[in-house]
Amino acid sequence: MLNYEHLSFWEKRTYTEEIDTLIIGAGIVGMTCAFHEKQRHPQRKIVVLERGYLPTGASTKNAGFACFGSPSELQDDFQHMPETQVWETLSMRYEGLQKLFEIVPKHFMSYSACGSWDLTKEPMEGGFIHYLNRQIERITGISEVYSEDSAKIQSCNFHGFNFAYKNRSEGSIDTGQLMEALFRKCVEMGVHFLFGTEVTKLSFESTEKSVTTSHGILKPHQIALCTNAFAQQLLPLDVRPARAQVLVTSPINELPIDGTFHFDAGYYYFRNVGKRVLFGGGRNQALEEESTISMEISSRLQNHLESLLRANILPNQVFEVEYRWAGTLGLGPAKEPIVRQLAPGVVAGVRMGGMGIAIGALVGEKLSKLLV
Ligand SMILES: Cc1cc2nc3c(=O)[nH]c(=O)nc-3n(C[C@H](O)[C@H](O)[C@H](O)COP(=O)(O)OP(=O)(O)OC[C@H]3O[C@@H](n4cnc5c(N)ncnc54)[C@H](O)[C@@H]3O)c2cc1C
Repeated sequence: MLNYEHLSFWEKRTYTEEIDTLIIGAGIVGMTCAFHEKQRHPQRKIVVLERGYLPTGASTKNAGFACFGSPSELQDDFQHMPETQVWETLSMRYEGLQKLFEIVPKHFMSYSACGSWDLTKEPMEGGFIHYLNRQIERITGISEVYSEDSAKIQSCNFHGFNFAYKNRSEGSIDTGQLMEALFRKCVEMGVHFLFGTEVTKLSFESTEKSVTTSHGILKPHQIALCTNAFAQQLLPLDVRPARAQVLVTSPINELPIDGTFHFDAGYYYFRNVGKRVLFGGGRNQALEEESTISMEISSRLQNHLESLLRANILPNQVFEVEYRWAGTLGLGPAKEPIVRQLAPGVVAGVRMGGMGIAIGALVGEKLSKLLV
């Protein structure tokens, strides 16, 4: 392996010397932080380090829901968080999506304003939906975001659900296109990327900062830690990893499903991707087993997802499961992310939970503002 000390004069000058801002992690947070850093300070040398040959956390592995909250998820949040925090988080999600679309226009990520449906067995109280609509209008300016639309269950031929609540302001994106567009944007602006470079140690106690990597030591002026679920491997931040598993079917002729769907307080989610169905979640079935950084899929959860899919979402359809994968969420005792200065010129933006598409761009911007 080629260590930094063996690099040429040109390579050192371009990539490893005199780094103004070193960003660790090339997920949505790392890339949007790089974007804002470069936009605010075009002269700065900004280098993003990524341990994988692709981003290897959640940003290229997620379900592609551009969402800010379903009624059953909000109902669940009310039981675990003070109400002000629920609305703050929702507001971050909504604002974050607008920020994301400012950086990458919607058509570059095949955004579809398809709406989302929250599927339940029991009805939600009309008063509760009304209350959510009033609060959300206050935050987003959009009126009547939620409405009951239980006819969707029949038109999609779902089994095992009795009620559906539509959110008319949510949509879906192509996750691969989003990340590729972000990467290209950063490169065009002059941000450098070093893939296949793992950070093993950070030290910033003295005025000189030092970042030990798999290829040698770098001495940047500033550091942004954007490693989400893996943050604890470098610093004692309150983030724990949680595996999230997904599958995608073969194309299905006459697929009756069009849109994004959630059930069970957001623990399960599915959508169409063209004529295919992407289905994921179910972590609550095996919380301990899924508290892992392993990106291998488990037969237990994959079988569980597949049987739910065949019984409730695509009954009487003929299809194969053609793709299966897992990504890693960063969770913690609170739903909101950690966005913090750790020392002068050292910041962290981690713990995006299951909402990093929504809040990632906002966190990236906040990080660049926290840097000097
Ligand atoms: C299956 C799944 C479905 C999801 N669905 C949705 C959804 O529909 N909507 C939504 O809003 N959110 C969703 N999420 C959550 C969302 O994807 C994440 O919150 C978001 O991608 C987190 O972005 P990030 O940049 O913070 O972290 P990541 O994308 O995890 O990026 C962190 C990067 O840091 C790198 N890294 C880690 N340690 C080191 C190190 N020591 N040295 C160098 N590099 C390192 C990793 O390889 C990784 O690429 C989903 C997540 C998963 C897994």
